[in-house]
Amino acid sequence: MRYFLFLILFSACIHSPDVRSQKSGDDSKNVNEPVTAVRKPKNIILMIGDGMGLTQLSAGWIAKRDALYVERCKVIGLVKTYSADDLVTDSAAGATAFATGVKTLNGAIGVGPDSLPRKTILEIAEEHGLATGLVAVCSITHATPASFIAHQGSRMMDEEIATDFLKTDIDVFIGGGKQYFADRKDKKNLIEELRKRNYQVTETIEKAIEVKSGKLAGFIANVHPDRAKSRGPVLAGASLTAINILDQNEKGFFLMIEGSQIDWAGHQNNSNYLIEEMLDFDYAIGKALDFAEKDGETLVIITADHETGGYAINGGDLEKGEMKTAFTTLMHTGAMVPLFAFGPGAELFTGIYENTAVFDKMMELYGFGK
Ligand code: MG
Ligand code: ZN
Repeated sequence: MRYFLFLILFSACIHSPDVRSQKSGDDSKNVNEPVTAVRKPKNIILMIGDGMGLTQLSAGWIAKRDALYVERCKVIGLVKTYSADDLVTDSAAGATAFATGVKTLNGAIGVGPDSLPRKTILEIAEEHGLATGLVAVCSITHATPASFIAHQGSRMMDEEIATDFLKTDIDVFIGGGKQYFADRKDKKNLIEELRKRNYQVTETIEKAIEVKSGKLAGFIANVHPDRAKSRGPVLAGASLTAINILDQNEKGFFLMIEGSQIDWAGHQNNSNYLIEEMLDFDYAIGKALDFAEKDGETLVIITADHETGGYAINGGDLEKGEMKTAFTTLMHTGAMVPLFAFGPGAELFTGIYENTAVFDKMMELYGFGK
């Protein structure tokens, strides 16, 4: 037995020079290519924690008294969030930067500072035959999801934003905002329009997660779903539903998932609400990472559009999961936000860069050119 093992080892040794010379032969053919070849993903899941700065993440980790799921990501970057007209961005300009690669005016949805429409990564993915989706725990017409699919001068135009959904071929969207499709000033019934275009239209999260294929318009609230404590793990359920449907497209998919209410808790300077939403978002992150790990062809990017509340942790007890927290503002702040990446192409996201670079990197990784 030992002799046999020795033979295997020995033969491995005499074969290794061959392997090496073959490898260097290959390398010499590729002298003009970049030194490190980046593996390209088939699918990208972009997860945006609205208002999720480092302190929000830290508070989640301390309250959980255990590692966050996001800690499974080994690639980390920092993102500069300012908009075209302000050091402190709002969520519309922040999401438009990720979606289109252009810094725009606060309040603008999928348009540049000249108010002209800019194609979004979701629309470009669609043009290339990929499946596309949006998941949020606010109205699906709210600034963050809207910036990936609509083109409007103002985030306040929920009904116009709803109309823009029907100008695309998005496969799955799950969120609140049914009233902007169903009960409109122009009396149009966009729910009927969606059905005509073969969408399965559902009105509860329970019904949405029963959908396994085809197109899905999953409404989970008339306007906004409740806070995490009351709504339950809706974000994780909606995310998995979207992933499982979109993954049936052989060319790949683009999916944006938003932890929408971390920001709202920040605006309310409400630490308990914030931690609840932070952990709810992190739970959904865990589900997305489980999928990506098994799949091997999916890049998951987790970041924020900006920080909210100027949140701080000024003391506490790690053992007990207790914190003394404070907020410095009811608004957003101009601090850089963290970005975490997992899967093929993740290594492109190390360093400090502009929010618009997230779009550029996704374009490069999909191989879409610019
Ligand atoms: Mg948002
Ligand atoms: Zn906000």
